[in-house]
Amino acid sequence: MPEYLAREHDVLVIGAGGAGLRAAIGASAAGVSVGIVTKSLLGKAHTVMAEGGIAAALANVDERDNWKVHFADTMRGGQYMNNPRMAQIHAQEAPACVRELEAWGAVFDRTKEGKILQRNFGGHKYPRLAHVGDRTGLEMIRTLQDHGIHQGIDVDMECVVLTLLKDGDRVVGAFGYDRERGRFRLYRAKAVVLATGGVGRAYKITSNSWEYTADGLALAYCAGAELMDMEFVQFHPTGMIWPPSVQGILVTEGVRGEGGVLKNKEGRRFMFDDIPPLYKNQTADNPEEGWRYTQGDRAARRPPELLTRDHVARSIVREVREGRGSPHGGVFLDISWIKEKMPNAAEHIKRKLPSMYHQFKQLADIDITKEPMEIGPTTHYMMGGVRVDAESQMSSVPGLFAAGECAAGLHGANRLGGNSLSDLLVFGKRAGEHAAAFANEHPAGQVNSDEVDAAARQALEPFERPSGESPFLIQRDLQEMMQDLVGIVRREEELQKALAELKKLEGRARLAGVTGHREYNPGWHTALDLSNLLTISEAITLAAIERKESRGAHFRDDCPSRDETAGKFNMVIRRGRDGEMQIARVPLPEMPAELKQVIEEMK
Ligand SMILES: Cc1cc2nc3c(=O)[nH]c(=O)nc-3n(C[C@H](O)[C@H](O)[C@H](O)COP(=O)(O)OP(=O)(O)OC[C@H]3O[C@@H](n4cnc5c(N)ncnc54)[C@H](O)[C@@H]3O)c2cc1C
Repeated sequence: MPEYLAREHDVLVIGAGGAGLRAAIGASAAGVSVGIVTKSLLGKAHTVMAEGGIAAALANVDERDNWKVHFADTMRGGQYMNNPRMAQIHAQEAPACVRELEAWGAVFDRTKEGKILQRNFGGHKYPRLAHVGDRTGLEMIRTLQDHGIHQGIDVDMECVVLTLLKDGDRVVGAFGYDRERGRFRLYRAKAVVLATGGVGRAYKITSNSWEYTADGLALAYCAGAELMDMEFVQFHPTGMIWPPSVQGILVTEGVRGEGGVLKNKEGRRFMFDDIPPLYKNQTADNPEEGWRYTQGDRAARRPPELLTRDHVARSIVREVREGRGSPHGGVFLDISWIKEKMPNAAEHIKRKLPSMYHQFKQLADIDITKEPMEIGPTTHYMMGGVRVDAESQMSSVPGLFAAGECAAGLHGANRLGGNSLSDLLVFGKRAGEHAAAFANEHPAGQVNSDEVDAAARQALEPFERPSGESPFLIQRDLQEMMQDLVGIVRREEELQKALAELKKLEGRARLAGVTGHREYNPGWHTALDLSNLLTISEAITLAAIERKESRGAHFRDDCPSRDETAGKFNMVIRRGRDGEMQIARVPLPEMPAELKQVIEEMK
């Protein structure tokens, strides 16, 4: 075995976003040695982009809120495809996790009484999102990072894990390289936590950061773990659409939470036209009631703009398809109208939504205090991911844990806004603690040097094909294909076509070539990302073919209704012995009677 820079820890955490940092703190607090490896710089993980807030039933703004309401909202939002135990743990433990973050120094916005302020968000019955203006992710990362570095956690920045290493069934480490110098790194560990985030870079229009190339899901799949709910890709209803250079950048749901309304080119608030039966009782009858809700009137019900993201995104697509869209193929989101309701509206908007104000002013020359924004759906979040145990977050591979966006189960068919940041805290903590327990209970395993050498050789192959096709072109074609054929509205024949296209793209990726050398070479990085993106795109497509109904974020034009039988199972994907992807329908976990009762009570 050539000499690789080697590191050894009890627990290796892959990813330094909210989930990874919280997992590392949890493991370190249990007394084991912890290393973090992250593709970006510390403090720059995708979580830093999170805007609107962290969902937790603190009941600071409305005392009617509690874990049961949060649990019921999460299950309803996920169309009951969620793992109920995960949804219960999440709702019960999120408040303590937010208070812990506060105790570690997070500077939240405050109520007049000095409590953590909470705001409205889609699908949440009461104001529930603890926030720091519209820069909550930045504050979360800053706080966790400050806390984490004082625990003696080792951090390898700008390093990419390429493969997980196994001893028999069990994970015993990882192998990767540093992006700056291109040198290989070998990580030995008794337990590994994946916290690598999502998959948005498989699509052309996305709010996701460059890191979102589905690495963790592909690493887990290749190591023998199961993936679940891959058909459920969330398209956030409000991304910027104009000018082209900003297409996909997120416009926070906080805009609608503060009273922003959606209108078509005829000036009609089309969200009142179609309110799903599941939400009829909770939705305002008229604009006046909706406005009162956003201003804290406890007797009012939420405006239809704050229905779940899947529904709002599809309503926008309907307006555009039927010829009522905005000039650049979206609809209008207007917060400036609130000047009719409050004298100091411009100042209020700038104070409540500072990032949105600057984002539109600087990138689109739009003053959102004076004029509407043009928006459309953007690929935003992956509900699917590594299938894990609800209590421990361990995957089906012993010693391999997953938390945050790369894990599946909590959100079912559709995630509610704010429920990701709380997911990172609650399940990041659990994953770290259980990984530490696993490391304490198991001696270090053996790393197979042949396996490591093979991974190193494979990583360098693109250099042997200097005249091979550019990996950037292959990635672009993949993104366009996924956007067109496996996007927000799906059809069987298009999905089948996508599978065939994926085979062709895989062939092209095998022949991709790069020029130059190993030291900071973006072409090489992209060539290495490709196989992850392709594997996960295949999993999304396969699951989308297999779910022959429409539910949550998965909309089939050719099967537009919900099918009660299909609603009783999750799609689970694993690698077969022949190396081919296999998909199975696995019954949803049974919901205990006491949780069924909670759902009945909250109807
Ligand atoms: C614009 C925007 C706004 C959002 N706002 C909110 C919000 O207000 N509330 C909310 O709840 N959710 C929000 N979300 C969603 C939420 O931010 C994400 O789901 C969440 O931050 C994911 O966190 P994570 O810890 O799972 O992953 P990340 O924060 O993405 O961290 C992933 C880490 O893994 C590393 N990594 C990836 N692959 C590898 C590899 N191969 N080797 C080594 N390291 C690797 C990355 O470098 C990174 O450090 C928003 C998302 C976006 C895009």
